[in-house]
Amino acid sequence: MTTFELPIEVEKILTKFQANKYEIYVVGGAVRDILMGKIVSDWDFTTNATPEEILKIYPDGFCDNIYGTVGLTVEGYDKPFEITTFRTEHGYRDFRRPDKISWGKTLKEDLERRDFTFNALAIDDKKIIDLYEGQKDLDNKIVRAVGDANKRFNEDALRMMRAVRIAGELNFKIEEETFEAIQRNSTLINKIAKERVKDELFKILKSDNPYTGILHLKETGLMQEILPELTKCFGVEQKSPSRHHIYDVGQHLLMSLKECKSIDPITRFATLVHDIGKPQTFKKLPTGVITFYNHEMVSTRIAENLAERFKFSTREREKLVKLVRFHQFTVDENQTDSAIRRFITNVGLEYVQDMLDLRVADRLGGGARETSWRLEEFKKRLVEVQKQPFSIKDLKISGRDVMEELDIPAGPKVGEILEKLFNKVVEKKIENEKKALLTELNKIW
Ligand code: ATP
Ligand code: MG
Repeated sequence: MTTFELPIEVEKILTKFQANKYEIYVVGGAVRDILMGKIVSDWDFTTNATPEEILKIYPDGFCDNIYGTVGLTVEGYDKPFEITTFRTEHGYRDFRRPDKISWGKTLKEDLERRDFTFNALAIDDKKIIDLYEGQKDLDNKIVRAVGDANKRFNEDALRMMRAVRIAGELNFKIEEETFEAIQRNSTLINKIAKERVKDELFKILKSDNPYTGILHLKETGLMQEILPELTKCFGVEQKSPSRHHIYDVGQHLLMSLKECKSIDPITRFATLVHDIGKPQTFKKLPTGVITFYNHEMVSTRIAENLAERFKFSTREREKLVKLVRFHQFTVDENQTDSAIRRFITNVGLEYVQDMLDLRVADRLGGGARETSWRLEEFKKRLVEVQKQPFSIKDLKISGRDVMEELDIPAGPKVGEILEKLFNKVVEKKIENEKKALLTELNKIW
């Protein structure tokens, strides 16, 4: 028998509904989190009281969506508590939104419309109500659809993405029938709005096990529907006689994601797709050598399409595209400072660390060591060249300073002087520091 304690704020809500002769239960992810010993992020309740009746008990509640969920702001909690009247759902129009929601009469009706057994648990203050052996599946780390999996995914295709996402997040297995039902119905995911698919995809990428989640996408056939370009990478060999590749392109991309140290979903996504243009540029020479000439440009074009498909924000798109476009950057001890500066300008200073994270993931995901002395040297030089100004506006002195110091009016002369100072700094003849610049200024004047 599992023992648990509910927060006082939750107890209060339960007591108040009961005092008003209504049934009320804690449901959904909260019960799952309690049983897993996790901190509960969302508190959801279900009741036989209608939204109007809930609002009579809690006049401060807000009810502003078509599902009639009443939200309550509770002190000390970031997210409002959500109270929803028992529901039953019949017939799904666009494979996502229920055609018709009708209030249910019993808890059982409400639980049987939920997606997975461990999400169909309820707590009625003292005990767990478990109609579908959700606790057993939770203990065995299994994602299992409530009822007939095939039917459930036909009602709402997003549940297939949810199954893969939750399995990834929790490191659970998808039960066989549920798994096969996803395989059978995978094409239905195309009926779901891309924003929703993106939400689930990003949750997979943000989880502790993005690799597992993406692998599940592939094995269930969902990847073929939402990221067909990535599916094409599997089976594309890249092992040339004298080269180190141990994986095919698709496996390499998955392994790179597994090794990616960044927790940013865009950086992780860029890592997953950085070579996605390789299948289109594959060439095998008579010597047996395999080349992927210009693959980063083709990958960039595909990345742009993906950003479009999943309706990325402008910033998300820019970051993804830059990381893919420049992932082939050269690391060479004979590089000039200006080549290194160009790298920083191309990638953008704010994404340089993400770019390095992608490179390390790319190396590890190809069976190489994490770093090399060349890469370490490159990182040092990235820091070094940043001490130098990139343009006149990075000088630690302005046109106004020049005018004041020399007591001259605005005009082309000011620009000329700044340019001279800039060149001296670039040539490392003086430091980019105000005092040194002022001293030099008086000298060249
Ligand atoms: P998370 O909060 O981590 O996204 P969750 O399981 O709590 O996971 P929510 O989207 O918060 O998911 O949904 C709350 C509950 O509503 C779920 O636990 C589940 O019982 C039910 N639910 C959500 N989406 C669906 C769906 N598409 N089909 C059936 N039931 C669903
Ligand atoms: Mg939740």
